[in-house]
Amino acid sequence: MKLPNPVDYAVPAFVLLVLAEMLVAWARDRKRYEPKDTLVSLALGTGSTVAGVLTGGFAYALAVWFWQFRLFDLGYAWYWFVLAFVIDDLAYYVFHRMAHRVRWFWASHVIHHSSQHYNLSTALRQTWTGFFSLSFLFRLPLVVIGFPPEMLLFVGGINLIYQFWIHTEVIGLMPRWFEAVMNTPSHHRVHHATNPRYLDTNYAGVFIVWDRLFGTFTPERDDERPRYGIVKNLGSFNLLWAAFHEWVGIARDMWAAPGLRAKLGYLVMPPGWSHDGSRDTSETIKARWAETQQRGE
Ligand SMILES: [Zn+2]
Ligand SMILES: [Zn+2]
Repeated sequence: MKLPNPVDYAVPAFVLLVLAEMLVAWARDRKRYEPKDTLVSLALGTGSTVAGVLTGGFAYALAVWFWQFRLFDLGYAWYWFVLAFVIDDLAYYVFHRMAHRVRWFWASHVIHHSSQHYNLSTALRQTWTGFFSLSFLFRLPLVVIGFPPEMLLFVGGINLIYQFWIHTEVIGLMPRWFEAVMNTPSHHRVHHATNPRYLDTNYAGVFIVWDRLFGTFTPERDDERPRYGIVKNLGSFNLLWAAFHEWVGIARDMWAAPGLRAKLGYLVMPPGWSHDGSRDTSETIKARWAETQQRGE
């Protein structure tokens, strides 16, 4: 069955909405929008699209190859689309959590967190090295279950489109039932924040339910505004550096590390891990923060 790629249809709307949000933000608070940052976001989005065109075929061919080992012949009834969408979103949650907890996957995902601003254009910062990092592995189980690769591409596209609109500070809170079930601007602001309280939480794609189920949910608080970016910000608008810096960091650390165990650690341990414990991971940052909270500072 030939299905359209929903993302192709959404791109014009993305551009229009970025412009509309820019006007609103400009009217409300000029400091929030940094034109150079937005330009970098647009360029990084374009780079990601190019990378996707270059490598997408391989991932897709691999999925089609795996499909011959499928356990069930599901077909294209509408309810299989719905189920595929829900399970694919769970696979996204698992992938996204790994992307923050395993440095190898983080090296590919970090680009999405590289802006210190939070607006619709931030959503366009997508990975350039997703294929290289093997992130498609997280979706392969769905192929083996029997969801056709075309269907997965389609629901994956819808998932990506959904995640666009939540990258904004213009929307405060959605209705209560919506905040309970769905990923929202409020929940995702927390995900992009580097405040110790917020660090490494809210990994959801579409349904925030996964975070609530697996204990990674943190609500946004009125008394603590998110500070956006990464723990160690890039301090540059260089596109190639934004796309590849963490890969360079991994290579350097592995080169310098003593022994195989330490070298592998720099690949599979969380970002910030070091063989001599000299750096900060999100755990050490959170622990230090929790201590100051207890002392009531
Ligand atoms: Zn993330
Ligand atoms: Zn995001």
